[in-house]
Amino acid sequence: MIAISKRLEKVTTYIPEGATIADIGSDHAYLPCYGVQKGIIRHAVAGEVNKGPFDSALSQVKALGLEDQIEVRMGDGLEVISAHEVSVVVIAGMGGQLISNILTRGKDRLPGVERLVLQPNMGAKFIREWLEVNGWVLVNESILEEDEKIYEILVAKRSKNPEKLTEAEKLLGPFLIQEKSETFKKKWKREKNNWERIVRQLQQAIPSDEITKRKNELEKKIEFVTEAIK
Ligand code: SAM
Repeated sequence: MIAISKRLEKVTTYIPEGATIADIGSDHAYLPCYGVQKGIIRHAVAGEVNKGPFDSALSQVKALGLEDQIEVRMGDGLEVISAHEVSVVVIAGMGGQLISNILTRGKDRLPGVERLVLQPNMGAKFIREWLEVNGWVLVNESILEEDEKIYEILVAKRSKNPEKLTEAEKLLGPFLIQEKSETFKKKWKREKNNWERIVRQLQQAIPSDEITKRKNELEKKIEFVTEAIK
């Protein structure tokens, strides 16, 4: 059994047993290899846009003798799969904006996909906005710390009329706000301190509409976070 990070291991817990998946941005194909070895994943497409990670993924799959269950394909985002080919799409280890971008550009490949498991390193808000606009609803969220970095995992399914999230829920995560874990509090205390420092700097700057707008935005986020972590 290959060893993978705590972060990727947690991602695999959101993949239903027997699923066919696409892992987009699959450097070393760690996630599909682990998932297949553990008997969670039946078949996987490991997609990579860059030659180096593509080659590493190919070597890993070959070294473990998993070529029958994992196909490594080179291409940009979801273009490596066809509609109705997989039941789950995993995109992990990228920024929330990039993940949303990949989903938008690959919309025509999403028919047949029942679940999205997304792990942004930052900017989860962009993904929550994307899900709401595009007919998906969050069914679970998770937050964890590894090597002094904090990661969020977002799990979504299709919904005909997704409930609208509040601004605070988009920023912080509806499930994570409820759970209020120590890791959640740690992440947002850190962000809040940072925003408060920026607000103090903006207060010293020459006033302008732009500065007032920025200050108001930050103060609003500080208010959401103060409420959520108290
Ligand atoms: N998913 C793995 C993980 O979570 O550990 C690897 C994360 S790594 C930081 C991001 C990977 O995504 C890189 O290997 C990069 O080449 C790949 N990538 C970035 N943009 C991509 C795109 N548009 N399509 C496919 N792969 C992409």
